[in-house]
Parts: sequence; C-alpha cells; structure tokens
Amino acid sequence: MACFFIDAIDSRFDSVFGASNDYNFGIHWVFESCFANHENEQDMDESKIVLFQGTGKAWLHQRIEIPSPNRGEVLVRILGCTICGSDLHSVHGRRQVATPSVLGHEIVGEIVEFGDDAVRSAVDGSPLSEGNRVTWSVVASCGDCYFCQHDLPQKCSVAVKYGHNRYERTAGPTGGFASHCLLVRGTRVVRIPDELPLEVVCPSSCATATIAAAMEAAAIRKGDTAVVIGAGMLGLTACAMASKQGCANVICVERSESRRILSRAFGASLSLLPDQLPSVLAEATAGRGADVIFECTGANGAFVSAMDAVRVGGRLVLVGAVFPQEPIPMVVERIVRRNLAIVGIHNYAPKHLVQAVQFLELHWHEFPFANLVEKWYSLDQMDEAIEHAGDQCSIRIGIRPD
Ligand SMILES: [Zn+2]
Ligand SMILES: [Zn+2]
Repeated sequence: MACFFIDAIDSRFDSVFGASNDYNFGIHWVFESCFANHENEQDMDESKIVLFQGTGKAWLHQRIEIPSPNRGEVLVRILGCTICGSDLHSVHGRRQVATPSVLGHEIVGEIVEFGDDAVRSAVDGSPLSEGNRVTWSVVASCGDCYFCQHDLPQKCSVAVKYGHNRYERTAGPTGGFASHCLLVRGTRVVRIPDELPLEVVCPSSCATATIAAAMEAAAIRKGDTAVVIGAGMLGLTACAMASKQGCANVICVERSESRRILSRAFGASLSLLPDQLPSVLAEATAGRGADVIFECTGANGAFVSAMDAVRVGGRLVLVGAVFPQEPIPMVVERIVRRNLAIVGIHNYAPKHLVQAVQFLELHWHEFPFANLVEKWYSLDQMDEAIEHAGDQCSIRIGIRPD
C-alpha cells in the first residue's frame, strides 16, 4: 500500500480531519504535491505520526508540529516501539479500535520536556529529568476512581491507554508509531538502565509487565510444575520468569517447532506439541497435573487443554485471550470439585512494570531477549513491518522513527 504525507497543522485542512474517518485518496495526493518541497525543510521541527484508519485502509502518514506538553504532561521522543500481538489483532480487525489512532504501545523514549506541574519522579521515587531513557505504564490512571482505589489502576474508569485511543489533534499523539509521544497526567514512568538494549526493553511495557502480573497471580512455590501454553513473547517471558522462581519443571506447549526450540533457551525444561502434554505431564507429576498453568495464546482449545492439565487445587492463569472468541461449553462442577483457581490477567499495575524492567536488567544475558526483535523498520515502512510481524517465525518486529 502507498504512504501519503500531508501537513495536519495547516488550518485549511481542518475539514478533512473534522467529521469523517474516510480520507479521500485524491486529497492526499494534492496535499503531498503541495508540500513536496516543504517536508525536508521542516524535518528538524516536525513530529511524525502514522495513523491507523481501519482494517484494509492505508496508513495515513502525517507531519505535525512537535507537541507541547500541557500542564501535567511530559513530552517524550520515541526511540523505538515493538509491534505487539494486540496491534496485529487491531490491524487485522480481530478487535475493534477507535480510528484514526496511533497504535503501538511497547514504547521506549527519551524525555524531552516537562509540562507545568508534571511529575518529575519515576514509580520507584527516583528523579526524572530531560534526556532520561524511559518506558511507562500502558495505562495512565486517575488515582481516585473505584478501581484505582482498589488495586486495579489498569482498569481506571477514566484511563488513557497508550496506542489504543482515538487520535485527537488537540490532545496530541499517545501511541508508539510516531516520533513523539505525550505522556498524560497519571502515567507512571520507569527509567531504563543504560545497558539494556532497546530490543530487550521495548516489550517491557506490555508483554513483560503483563507476565510479571501473571506471576504474582500464579503464586509459584519452589518445586512447582508450571505449564506455559504458547511460546510467543508472553509465553517465552513466562518460561523465563517461572524458571527463575524455582519451578522444578517448566513445560512449554507450542505448535511451532522453531518456537519450541526457542522456549528451551528461555528456561523451559521441556517443549512439547499439544497432544504430547497429557502423558508427559502425568509422568512428571505422578498423575496429579500441573500446579500452575499460564495460557498465553487465547485459543479456546488451549483453555480446554489447560482445564484438563491443571491439578486439583491448581492455578490457571489466563493471559492470551485479548480478542473475542466463540463461547465454549464448560461444566462448572469441574472447577468447584477440583478447587481450581482461574484468574484472568489483563494489563498490569505500575509495580509490575518496575518488576519487569528489573527482571530484564538481571537476566537479559541469561535468556536471549535481545534476539527476539528480528528487525527494525522505519515509520515509512509500516506495511512491511506489519506483514513481517504477522510471520509466525518472528516474535517481535520493531519500529524506529529514524
Ligand atoms: Zn501489547
Ligand atoms: Zn482511576
């Protein structure tokens, strides 16, 4: 698909952005030709954003004035953003997203400017200043609503979610497929240690922190047998974290051979095809089943397998099902009589992002996190990047503004 550059800050074009999401291709070409010579001249003062307009529609590339942080906001220059599986769900229409929007939420950036009254300290209390390399909680929360007051800031009733909200020109960009991002009030920031490569740390604000939250829910005990279903970014991270928490066995279940091999490098003691699990698990646990299972694929079949594989009194932690699925029949008695704990984990609290970055800092040499970003693309290459990210062989593809 073609890319179109237009200048969004010129007031003559207000009508284009006001009422409709359906941009007219003819208009794009006119704008492009109007500003053909204008683009390079203003590179230094401009910010780039790439707007998702809906499944099957071209990405809309815009150059806008570099946003100014309002009261309580922080302006960040984006260094890199990896493409999460949920970005792919949005792009391919498996879940609804408001358009136009700046997608991308696994972001690392550098602080450029603080707005008046902006918080100048990280989640751990350390000071923040211009030039710091940072990531931040995928959800900005108010701190006052019922959910914020009950340990679920990720479900804040007035949350701003990076890479998910409709783009409003007046509010500024809040997604990762851009050169700059505005951190709104209520965003919890974490500093990134200098030695952590971008490849390692970009996924921390989604996948790694979500698994940190899943680990808390799993309450692993030393010697446990954990099953991890799926060896994408979530599953590989779960294998690594479960292995460091003292599991006797970490059994990864994955259909892809290359991902099964990869899971062994991330701490899985065994890597199996789905139909191999019942017999292997029975042997490993004297027929009891797994103490804890992390379901990281979202597939109904994986949930059904997990229900069979978890032991009496075991914990089933559901992480992958972040897009709508067909309903499935379930005998509730099986949950009751087997004393199962089934918990869903969606997003995370700021403390989990701190844990995620700490985990990566401690263990990124031990597990090949640095190899999981197969390739970086520029903002001009969104189509190629999305296509590459959909390839089952790749775990992560990244976007860098320059
Ligand atoms: Zn994500
Ligand atoms: Zn709230």
